[in-house]
Amino acid sequence: MRGPVDLVRPNPKDGVVGSGRWSKGADQLGVFEAIGSDTHEEVLFGNDPVSGLRTIIAIHSSALGPALGGTRFYAYQSEEDALIDALRLSKGMTYKSAMAGLDLGGGKAVIIGDPRTMKTERLLRVYGRIIDSLGGRYITAEDVGTTPADMAVVSRETQWVAGLPSEMGGSGDPSPATARGVINGMLAVAERLWGSDDLSGRTVAVQGVGKVGGNLVERLTKAGAATVVADVNPAAADRMATDHGSRIVGLDEIYDVECDVFAPCALGGSLSEHTIPRLRCTAVVGSANNQLAHEDADGDRLADRGILYAPDFVVNAGGIINIAVGIRGYDPQRAASAIDDIQSSVSGVLEVAQRLGINPHNAAVMAAEERISQIGSLPGHRGVSRTL
Ligand code: NAD
Repeated sequence: MRGPVDLVRPNPKDGVVGSGRWSKGADQLGVFEAIGSDTHEEVLFGNDPVSGLRTIIAIHSSALGPALGGTRFYAYQSEEDALIDALRLSKGMTYKSAMAGLDLGGGKAVIIGDPRTMKTERLLRVYGRIIDSLGGRYITAEDVGTTPADMAVVSRETQWVAGLPSEMGGSGDPSPATARGVINGMLAVAERLWGSDDLSGRTVAVQGVGKVGGNLVERLTKAGAATVVADVNPAAADRMATDHGSRIVGLDEIYDVECDVFAPCALGGSLSEHTIPRLRCTAVVGSANNQLAHEDADGDRLADRGILYAPDFVVNAGGIINIAVGIRGYDPQRAASAIDDIQSSVSGVLEVAQRLGINPHNAAVMAAEERISQIGSLPGHRGVSRTL
């Protein structure tokens, strides 16, 4: 008997489904175990053999409002990897929106495949119809592998899409907003560690200088900080050296750089038992999602080393705040002011962590769960139109 994952395969000849905890026989319900362990509300598998679309839309929580989260278009090694990513990222979105004070729940969609070769109008429009079938329970936006222009195509099939291009009155690329939020996180940390929210004269090591990291380096330079950068794409690092005087180091060397702040802005999981002992910084503040390879252990490991960690999902909420502001008609000033509130959110989390003697990641999770429980349990029904 084929496992539940086979339901999303457009062509059985594609090969054997990858092994793992969820690719069991259908009688063993592996997918439901995966979904249930993090209490997801709903997971939808969508399929269009003509365009090759294979998508997984995960709604983790709609307790605070419709589940909002971007569409990641990525050549996953296996369908298991894709499902795990959708589940993990959608849960992260629940916490991120809760901590950002938004009336939004957490969701995320993945499209399996290489966006450079697979992205077509048909694929994006079928995808839009699948989102539409959820009736507003999930709202999408751009993420890795998708752009505001792609969202414009998706929007021809559904109204449940945010982050449209600025020419269409949308909030556009969220990356500069995310970088603005990261700076706010750094200001909170600076105030706590050095008694003033001033970054001039500080050194920040930035791992990954793509859309967010590159913008962050620009902002740091303007704030008078020195930057050290590493990127798998040498051209991206070179640009930082030329435009902002950044010092370039090797991909592995970035962990050993003596600096005030280490800013992970590449991929998740870069803080682990292997890298944390090497860090020579006083604080970690960056944009990457899921920076801690093992949430509890690595949060404690950083604290034990006396490194102040600003929780990723509090720090990197600038993009989602920008998108959320755009849902009712984008206003850059309103967005900027909401993003600047990240400074006080981070300060609050760091203070609670210190008071309770717990690591900042756990303090942020606690605060997010408290808001979800308090506001998510309000009596009475509120329609989607009111929420937005
Ligand atoms: P991006 O793809 O534009 O940039 C990532 C950069 O990291 C690229 O330049 C890439 O070459 C580099 N990179 C990849 N692996 C690396 C490695 N091992 N060492 C050093 N560099 C490496 O992506 P982005 O939009 O800038 O996002 C960066 C991170 O922030 C991601 O984890 C993303 O999920 C997260 N994030 C982004 C946003 C946003 O608004 N774009 C919002 C929230 C969170």
